[in-house]
Amino acid sequence: MVVGNWKLNGNIAFVMKYLRVLLADFPELPDLTNPNSQVSQLVLCPPVILLGELRMALQQLALEFSHASSIQCGAQDVSQFGVGSFTGEVSAEQLVDQGCRFVIIGHSERRQYHQETNEIIKKKIRRALSVGIKPILCVGETLVQRERNQTFEVLSEQLAVIDSTEDVMLAYEPVWAIGTGSAATIEQVVEVHQWIINFFARNQVKSVAVLYGGSVKPDNAPQLFAQSSVSGVLVGGCSLDPNALAKIYQAAVQASLN
Ligand code: PEP
Repeated sequence: MVVGNWKLNGNIAFVMKYLRVLLADFPELPDLTNPNSQVSQLVLCPPVILLGELRMALQQLALEFSHASSIQCGAQDVSQFGVGSFTGEVSAEQLVDQGCRFVIIGHSERRQYHQETNEIIKKKIRRALSVGIKPILCVGETLVQRERNQTFEVLSEQLAVIDSTEDVMLAYEPVWAIGTGSAATIEQVVEVHQWIINFFARNQVKSVAVLYGGSVKPDNAPQLFAQSSVSGVLVGGCSLDPNALAKIYQAAVQASLN
């Protein structure tokens, strides 16, 4: 799976321009209408205000590019509340209404700038699951925490929000690798992903896909996809460049066909 997180970027004009380039560069895909298809999924997470535009543009472009309909829409956040006097919030039900199948929850930027605690994140996961949206829970340590050897302690706390039967996806995103241009090394990624997989096994949590996020680029994507513990990538900055995202997706498709 390849998830593109546009963060706070883009506008209406950008959506169509972006999709035209992405789709022209998109690899030829095997039959994605087959629900058992093992071919990688591509999810775009624009700012919530652009979700409707993205969905409409994809529908329009499907007449020209048959594979447009295989791109899925996701959100970057969801409210912990359902309905009511919560100014500025967007509910899980409203995301469904906009065609969202996925939602990123607990991104480090939300934890840092919006004081999202593990308690709030837990509520958001429940809200998403209650309407059938797949949460992509982001976890990861800061540089200071890594240097103090607290990585696994921090991850244990962040992972404790998941109930054993819940159908979530994870994204391991070391905070020090996000937007810095220096991704974690393959050894660091594999060590943490393997630890997460073992953590779930120890705690009898159903097995979950673990994506890696943090300065993923076309250059380092093939090596990441070659690791059995890496189920996909969450791409921030680079996902704003449709040529680069198409290359990353190409690498994912190639790996899934190998
Ligand atoms: C992210 O924001 O989730 C992310 C991984 O960003 P970047 O790819 O820019 O490091």
